[in-house]
Amino acid sequence: MTARLIDGKAIAAQVREQVARQVEVRRREGKRIPGLAVVLVGDDPASHVYVSNKHRACDQAGILSFQHALPSDTSQQALEQLIDELNDDPSVDGILLQLPLPAHLDSRPILERILPHKDVDGFHPYNLGRLAQRLPVLRPCTPKGIMTLLQASGLKVRGLDATVVGASNIVGRPMALELMLAGCTTTVCHRFTRDLEAHVRRAELLVVAVGKPGLVKGEWVRDGAIVIDVGINREEEGRLVGDVEYAPAAERAAWITPVPGGVGPMTVASLLENTLYAAERHDAMELEITPS
Ligand code: NAP
Repeated sequence: MTARLIDGKAIAAQVREQVARQVEVRRREGKRIPGLAVVLVGDDPASHVYVSNKHRACDQAGILSFQHALPSDTSQQALEQLIDELNDDPSVDGILLQLPLPAHLDSRPILERILPHKDVDGFHPYNLGRLAQRLPVLRPCTPKGIMTLLQASGLKVRGLDATVVGASNIVGRPMALELMLAGCTTTVCHRFTRDLEAHVRRAELLVVAVGKPGLVKGEWVRDGAIVIDVGINREEEGRLVGDVEYAPAAERAAWITPVPGGVGPMTVASLLENTLYAAERHDAMELEITPS
């Protein structure tokens, strides 16, 4: 079998166009333009690239984006103060803290300080807890983007045996929650998993998010599986590769995401969807507290 490609670039472009259309409808109806505040601390080059991509994507969708670039010696207190100001700012619907932070800063209390209804990354314990309780509100962008990829490709996942390799707070764990919510029987593998190969071989739907090139051997992939490779690794020659051995996996799988051009573009598309969703909820909350 040769796998069909799940084209993240094309699906992300459709999502972004749909968000842009909905923002335009809001504008025509005289509603507020959604606003995203992006907070970047320090000068990590990769983070700068990600942040400028997010600003460009907002621009193209008609969403306002406010950049807060802080020096690398910013104190925890100063960062917390900025988050408080953004929480209070009615023109800001979403707050995104670009990770990783410089080593002297602790991201956890900062992420928890963002008001849950402005947490467009979906990392706040409230939003993760809601997802765990099958009541999703703002959902972490990468796993949400993967669910969109599956749906847009017409793939029905209810009842499938799914294996998630990687259990980080930002990808693996919320991915497992998304798959359970969608009705998969879900196994999660992490660094203490004893027999990774056996869990991969069983998977009808495989999601890999570790950050180790070639960790999952192509020959482990079950015939006819759906393979979603979240990993982004740069080889010495500069080429980007995922965590799954692509060519042999593509020979066995029915569907596969390429790297690049698979999951990557979906993360920003989900961020735009979340920002629009946050703005719509924001309006609804204002209506609730405005006396008639
Ligand atoms: P992370 O925080 O480093 O987490 C890696 C996870 O992999 C951890 O849960 C770790 O287990 C697990 N792991 C490590 N070695 C393993 C092994 N041998 N077998 C099974 N599991 C193992 O990384 P992340 O932030 O989740 O990112 C993972 C990859 O996805 C990276 O390449 C990153 O660049 C990429 N990524 C892509 C996107 C996108 O938009 N496409 C978004 C986010 C991340 P423990 O929990 O036990 O430590």
